[in-house]
Parts: sequence; C-alpha cells; structure tokens
Amino acid sequence: MPCRSANDLPDLRRIHVTAPQPQPGILGITPYKGGEGAVPGVADVRKLSSNESPLGPSPKAAAAYAALAKELHRYPDGASEALRQAIGKHHGLDPERIICGNGSDELIGLLTAAFAGPGDEVVYSRHGFLMYPIAAMTHGAKPVVAAEKELTADVDALLAAVTPKTKIVFLANPNNPTGTYLPTAEVKRLRAGLPAHVLLVIDAAYAEYVTRNDYSAGVELVEASDNTVMTRTFSKIYGLAALRIGWLYAPANIVDIVNRTRGPFNVNAAAHVAAIAALADVAHVDAARTHNDIWLPKLIEGVRALGLGATQSVGNFVLVRFGKAPKDAAAADAFLRSRGLILRGMTAYGLGDSLRLTIGTEEENLRFLAALKDFVAA
Ligand SMILES: *Cc1c(COP(=O)(O)O)cnc(C)c1O
Repeated sequence: MPCRSANDLPDLRRIHVTAPQPQPGILGITPYKGGEGAVPGVADVRKLSSNESPLGPSPKAAAAYAALAKELHRYPDGASEALRQAIGKHHGLDPERIICGNGSDELIGLLTAAFAGPGDEVVYSRHGFLMYPIAAMTHGAKPVVAAEKELTADVDALLAAVTPKTKIVFLANPNNPTGTYLPTAEVKRLRAGLPAHVLLVIDAAYAEYVTRNDYSAGVELVEASDNTVMTRTFSKIYGLAALRIGWLYAPANIVDIVNRTRGPFNVNAAAHVAAIAALADVAHVDAARTHNDIWLPKLIEGVRALGLGATQSVGNFVLVRFGKAPKDAAAADAFLRSRGLILRGMTAYGLGDSLRLTIGTEEENLRFLAALKDFVAA
C-alpha cells in the first residue's frame, strides 16, 4: 500500500472500519495483465503478446460458433457431455475423468480452491505461469517459489520446496513464458519424490506444439496415480482463446471433488460446439503445428544471430533476452512498438531483461526480425 500523509489518516481509518474487508492474501495479489493489442498513434499493429495462433481458429469451429446464434436462449449442457466424449475419443481418454472449464484458468482455480487454503502452501517454479500464485493467494494459501536452472523447472528444487504444509505443486510443461520443458522421465521423478497427499498439476497448455520424443503431456502419470492432474486448453493451438475453453484429465477421486464446486454451467454452449468442430479439424491443427515447426527455429536462430538471447522454446513463443541499457528490454519494447509490434513485457515474471514473442504469421515474423535488426544496429 502506498504511504499516506498524516492528514489522510482519519479518513483512511474510517474506510478501514466500515468497508468490507477481503480474505487474507487477496490484497497481496497483483492483478493478472493480459497481452496488449494496441499502440497509440501506430495504425498497423500486430499483437504478438498472448501466444495466440497466427492461423486463427478452424473455419469449421467458427462456423459452428456462428450457427449457435439461433440457440442463445438455451442453457449449455452443464456436464459438457458431448465435448467430453469428443475429447475422450480424440485422445483415447475416459470421458468420465475429464472436466471442462471456462479456460484452463478456471480449472487451476477450482483445483486450488478444492485442495489448498489458509495455512497451506502451493509450490511452483520461479518463472512459472503467474496464475498459480494468483490462485494460491485467492484461496488464502501461500505460494512457494522453487528456483530454476537455466530458465527450466528443476525437479530437485521443486522437491526441496515441499514442506508438510504443501498441498499442490503446479508445473507448466512446457512452461510459459520460458518455453522450456521437462522430459517425461523428470516429471515422473518429480511425482515419485512428492508425498502421496500432494496434488501434482501438470499444465500442458502447449502440448500440441511439442515435437520432442522425450516429452509427454502427462496422461500416463494421471492414469498411474490418484494424485496427478493434467490440464489442457483450446486457447492456444486450436485458436479459440476468446471462447474460454479448457479441460482437465484426472483420477476419479479428483474429478468427484472438483465437480462438487464447479459452477453448474461453467462452459458456454458456443465453446462446446466450436471446440468439438476444432478437434475434428485435424488438418487445421497440423497446419498450425507445421507453421510453428518452420518458424520457431528460424526465430530462435534469427534472434541469436543478432547477438541476443533466445530460450530453446518448444512452444509457440520465444523468450527474447536483452542486455543492459540503453539496449535493454524496455528500450526494445518501445522500439518494437513504434514499428507496430507488441511483445509481452516480462517484469511480472521476474524477467525484466526479456520480452516474450509469440510466433506470428510469416509476414509478422519477418517484420519482427527486421525491426529487431534495426534496434540492435541503431
Ligand atoms: C495460456 C495458458 C493457460 C491458459 O489457458 P486458458 O485455457 O486460456 O485459460 C494455462 N496455462 C499456461 C501455461 C498458459 O500459457
């Protein structure tokens, strides 16, 4: 809270006595800030700040969404039955062990609400996805940070951060914003090292982009345990971020617990039909992955060729690392914005020396590399 002058005190006290007070932890939360999409005074702006798909959604998903306009008076299916069946069939999973959510963000919140509260601890890695500490503090639990090694989650540090108070360990794999990942064997070692009562949440929001053969999204771990959950989303490779639709795969005991607190109509009908159509359009997802496979290495190499750092990302984004002023990340951000390119500032992630770049269209990627070259040369 900012300092107040003595003159302010009587007023402030009155407010403190009479106004509703939040639960512990709430005022410690810095609100999550999404990627920006506009630069004042610059007309042709490209948003490369939210890891959205440059290919957009499947046209079939967009058509299903449009067709739903005639049905807006109907409540959605509260059990997301048809979508769970479709996900189950597509991935070879038991639909009874799937829960759909209003984005995977909602599922992160529901899991935290169910398993962690005041006096409990929630462990995540140093540059892990910000929704984990936000969810922990929302429910009165304490977020506990584990160090990373070379901007990658470190199983030994995660295990060392566990105390008798730990209830949940969140692991984004691959992680946003670093783009780095843990191989299957390391995730298994993490699970094996955690006490049985600690819930491990593997957030695999970018799983569809990963082409490494030592990576898996976490299905086998979920199926081999009663304490491991995998979350997924339609916001990234499926290009449906606007509709807010994610899902989790969990053991039956966890599904039962989460379903008790889930809102009865937490996923909207437009998200249901669009996600089902998106799953069926395999060619569109393949095209998105192929585009990423082409541009991810080109952008990493392009950034490094200019003498800057780029993480060895396996997602649809790259963490670009800058040096000291006057050529620091803030200066680069301002320069790129003046060229109509919006990247994501990383100060909230403790990475003030970096900007996160989402892989864009070919034109956007080339424009970024050209602008970055000019920034370095200027
Ligand atoms: C984008 C993202 C999500 C959020 O996905 P929604 O389904 O849109 O809520 C979850 N986890 C990570 C790591 C992400 O980057």
